[in-house]
This record gives sequence, structure tokens and C-alpha cells, in this order.
Amino acid sequence: MTPPIAIIGAGPSGLTLGRLLELANISYIIFERDAPPKAGPERTGTLDIHAEDGQLALREAGLMDEFRKIARYDTPTILADSTGKVAITVGGEAADRPEIDRKDLRRLLLDSVPAERVHWNCKIQEVCKDDDGLMSIHFVDGNVESGFRLVVGADGAWSKTRRLITSVKPVYSGYYYLTMGIKKTNPYHPKAAALVGNGTYMVMGGGKQIVCQLLGDGSLFTGIGLSTLPADWDAKAELTDPSAFRERLLQDYFADFAEEQRDLIKHSEGDIYPWPLYDMPLDAFFWKPVPGVTAIGDAAHVSIPSGEGVNIALHDSLQLSQQIVKYGLGGVDQAVAEYEKLMFPRALKHMEAAKVGELLWAKDAPYSFMKAIGVA
Ligand SMILES: Cc1cc2nc3c(=O)[nH]c(=O)nc-3n(C[C@H](O)[C@H](O)[C@H](O)COP(=O)(O)OP(=O)(O)OC[C@H]3O[C@@H](n4cnc5c(N)ncnc54)[C@H](O)[C@@H]3O)c2cc1C
Repeated sequence: MTPPIAIIGAGPSGLTLGRLLELANISYIIFERDAPPKAGPERTGTLDIHAEDGQLALREAGLMDEFRKIARYDTPTILADSTGKVAITVGGEAADRPEIDRKDLRRLLLDSVPAERVHWNCKIQEVCKDDDGLMSIHFVDGNVESGFRLVVGADGAWSKTRRLITSVKPVYSGYYYLTMGIKKTNPYHPKAAALVGNGTYMVMGGGKQIVCQLLGDGSLFTGIGLSTLPADWDAKAELTDPSAFRERLLQDYFADFAEEQRDLIKHSEGDIYPWPLYDMPLDAFFWKPVPGVTAIGDAAHVSIPSGEGVNIALHDSLQLSQQIVKYGLGGVDQAVAEYEKLMFPRALKHMEAAKVGELLWAKDAPYSFMKAIGVA
């Protein structure tokens, strides 16, 4: 039998929603584009999960005990300028913002839903409303699944589901991360680990950043932030020789950074992954409820990283599940309308805060950012 609810995407928001529906005994199915995750190196950094939203959702999902076992507490963020001078250290134990590797959060959530609920290698092309008033999902391979009362787009920044709700698309922010890592076996690892400490080390200035984070296995994630690459930068062609590109980064972009900081690039290893940053235009971030479809997480409100994205996403899943439980499957459209009423102001507040984070790309970063948040 077709379950009443289809969730598109098995990222943090889709899986959390699945888990919450599972607990409420509401049937659902998750369609995910990618193959099941394999063990392997982390190509992204870690996520800090905040008490007021991310942790709240995990608690309601009954996952806080498991989360505590794998999360890292007391993980300060150090902000330094391009000379290497530490400007401020924020966070730490009192902040209650434990870090978890993205892949570990996904594993935690995946293990919390029955395996048969998640259908892998199912890339969706579009979502349609059929003549019977129910929703159908059209897959890239030509398959069609129909008969859903609600389709929830949890399919990230380039959501195909969102098209049914709004024509607004994310726009390139002008900021770009290139990510790589430093393994524990790397001779330079001890030096880099000492700089990074238990959490995150960010050195910045002149529209450039080097972000280094400690991961759960003791290796380090490196993100190189640039603000001069165009949206159509040909990452595939440019990054074919990662060692040569690291050399180019040092010569063409980070020549004015202190040697100790440049070393974080010099000694990073492996492939380099492109991560252009897009965000939804704030002035167009609104839509009227559309029966049968909604969006959560980045599909609804992608913005440049500010430490909030995954937290807002988990909160979306919580609030949507609560409304579905409240109104029941017969009132699912009302549930969506109520969820969206709660989501818009909450997400907008965070998206506006993320804009302040753009000061971390300013010429005199991190000082203008510190001034803006009242700590300098
Ligand atoms: C460089 C960078 C650093 C970040 N750092 C942080 C941070 O420190 N803290 C923080 O809170 N947030 C951070 N974020 C944001 C955070 O990653 C997102 O907000 C979060 O992952 C959103 O979760 P989601 O489940 O909504 O979407 P996603 O994580 O994007 O998951 C979407 C899922 O949908 C699947 N999918 C996509 N298209 C289709 C399709 N057509 N058919 C089927 N499935 C599909 C994808 O494969 C994926 O599994 C960062 C983002 C970036 C880019």
C-alpha cells in the first residue's frame, strides 16, 4: 500500500522527520538520490547541534542518549586574523553546542528508522499533483510513484520538490569553499591539531578563509574559503590535480597569510571538493501553502553556513511532525499551513543572522564581524 507521506531526501531533515513519524506510527517512505553511505573519509566538516532546536528535535526523537555518546562537547571556535593573531575564542563547554561529524549524525538518524523505509538510488525529477488530488513522484529513471497525500521536500538546496511551491531559486552568494583534510598519519597532523584544539580554527582576512575542524576520528577537515570565484567556475577541470591546485592556492590567494596558517593548506591532502555557497533571497522567502506539498531544511531556506542550517532543519522536522500528529492525516494540508506559519519567521531570523556572518569574509575579518556582534 502506498504510504500517505513521501519524504524526498535522506539528509538530516528528511531522516529526522522519518524518525518522528515512525514514533507517531504514521506511515511514510523516504526516497534518496544517492546510494547508501559507505564508510570512508569525511568530505565535510562537523555540525554543532544547538540546545534550543537541534537537540530539542533529537530529544523528541528519542535520540539524545545515543547522540551524547558520539558528540564532542567543549569544542571552542578560535577566530584569527591573517597574521595568525587570535582575535577571539568563542563557544566551549558553557555554550552547549556539541559537535558531531555529519556522517555520524546521518548514521545515528538512519539507524533510528527501519531500513525498508529508505529507498536509495531514487533521484526524483519532479513532483506532480494528479487529477485525483493526490501527489505523484516522477523519478529520473522513468519510474513514477503515485497516491501520496503529502510530499515533503527534504532534498536540499537544489530541491525539485520546491518547484511546486515557489519559483524562487537560491542565488550564488559569491562565497566558495574548497574542502580537503589532514589525516592522523600526516607528519604535520600534530602541529595542525595543536592549532585547532578541540573544535574549530578559522583564520581569515581579505575575503579569504582557512577553516580547520577536528573530526571524530582525530583527523582534521580543512575548508578553504574564497570570495572571488564565479558561480560557473569549472571546478572539475580546475581540481583535476589537487597538489598543483594547493600550490596555486598558496601562491595566488594566500601569499599574504602567515606561514603557520599557510601550512594548513600546504599539508592538506587528497582530493579537493568544491562547495559553492548559495542562499535563498531573503525578500522572496515566502510562499502560500500548497496542498499536498511542503519543504523542510535547506530545500526551504538554504543560506550560507552560519552554524544554524542543520539546527533549523531539525527544528522544521520537529514542527512539521507535531502538526501532522495534531491534525492527523485527514488534516494534513492544515498541518502544512500551520508548520509553514511557524517556520517562516523562525527561519527568516536565522537567515538574517547568517547575513552578519558575511562579515567573516570582509577585508578586515574577523574584526568587523566581532564589532557587529558586540564582542569588540
Ligand atoms: C560548506 C558548508 C558548511 C556547513 N556547515 C554547517 C555548520 O557548521 N552547521 C550547520 O548547522 N550547518 C552547516 N551547513 C548547512 C547544513 O549542511 C545544512 O543546513 C543541512 O545539511 C541541511 O540538511 P537537509 O537535510 O535539509 O539537506 P541536505 O543535507 O542537503 O540533504 C538533502 C538530501 O536530499 C538528497 N537529494 C537531493 N536531491 C535529490 C533528488 N532530486 N532526489 C532524491 N534525493 C535528493 C541528497 O542526496 C541529500 O541526502 C553547512 C553547509 C555548507 C555548504
